[in-house]
Amino acid sequence: MTQPAFETVAIIGIGLIGSSIALASQAYGAADRITLYDQSADVRQKASARDMGEICATAKDAVKAADCVIMCVPVGALAAATADVIAHLKPGAILTDVGSVKREAMTAMSVDLPSGVHLIPGHPISGTEQSGPNAGFATLFEDAWHILTPLDDTSEPYAAAIRNLTNFWSSLGAKVESMDADRHDRVLAITSHLPHLIAYNIVSTAYDMETVGEGEVVKYSAGGFRDFTRIAASDPTMWRDVFLYNKDAVLECLGRFSEDLAALQRAIRWGDGETLMREFTRARGIRKAILEAGQDSQDVNFGRQSATHKDTVNDAEN
Ligand code: NAP
Repeated sequence: MTQPAFETVAIIGIGLIGSSIALASQAYGAADRITLYDQSADVRQKASARDMGEICATAKDAVKAADCVIMCVPVGALAAATADVIAHLKPGAILTDVGSVKREAMTAMSVDLPSGVHLIPGHPISGTEQSGPNAGFATLFEDAWHILTPLDDTSEPYAAAIRNLTNFWSSLGAKVESMDADRHDRVLAITSHLPHLIAYNIVSTAYDMETVGEGEVVKYSAGGFRDFTRIAASDPTMWRDVFLYNKDAVLECLGRFSEDLAALQRAIRWGDGETLMREFTRARGIRKAILEAGQDSQDVNFGRQSATHKDTVNDAEN
């Protein structure tokens, strides 16, 4: 086990991501002490049953001795959650988050930031469609990217804070990179946000189709559709906030997507098999590149555990 990156890490919001950070920090010895707070008493109770650190009764209690405070709430709740902790942060503490939209996270967490507190927004590119404190697991961040979107601050104390935060995420198994917040939001709009929007849309279209009964959609769900339903089972609050706060980048991608979809529609209408072959072959090449980069597995079912196996693992953790 390596040297802990921090003495005390505080986690605000004990859902999938917050509980996974706490469990991973314990498992890999990334912090000596973990303190946690969630606004929901029910969530605090569930979290204490999983023994993931010290569950505090207030946000102030959780953050007052912390060297690093990680905000793990939905993007739309970041401003209010940060307002609860900002006056209680230790001088020299790092304030970071895991929100999926970085420009908004930066704005929400900058309000009344005390001097000497280092704000370094971040986003783990890892997750599942599940939420809540029982959904977390220690290996969630292993081999996944963690993107930091640091401020424009070239001082040595800020650089040291970035190094410490990088060490922390590396010890949870993540690969850490830095980029500009706006660039992050544009990249994630196409790689994550638009796919979720398409999944939500295709599932509701299938469900509403007059020619297909509700029961048939479930009974005959083929692999492709089942994958969409898994993505569309993601937390509605989190995804509502992603689209509200990354509006411009998502609308730009959606415009391009609609044009490309119209081209495929035209090819189908006019029996233009050549265009279909060309586009499908190109897409296959992109899939190959993702596999070669180690970003997914080519095992059957994309290497995902079967439902039965997953249930066993979850039962063991709960
Ligand atoms: P989650 O499972 O829904 O957990 C969020 C928790 O934060 C809930 O228990 C919520 O309580 C609590 N909360 C909300 N406002 C709060 C406040 N003001 N003070 C204290 N606690 C508060 O969400 P999650 O999936 O962990 O996502 C958390 C963040 O991670 C989001 O910003 C999301 O964009 C980002 N993220 C998620 C994923 C993913 O796959 N899920 C991946 C990468 C990044 P209530 O239920 O009472 O509101």
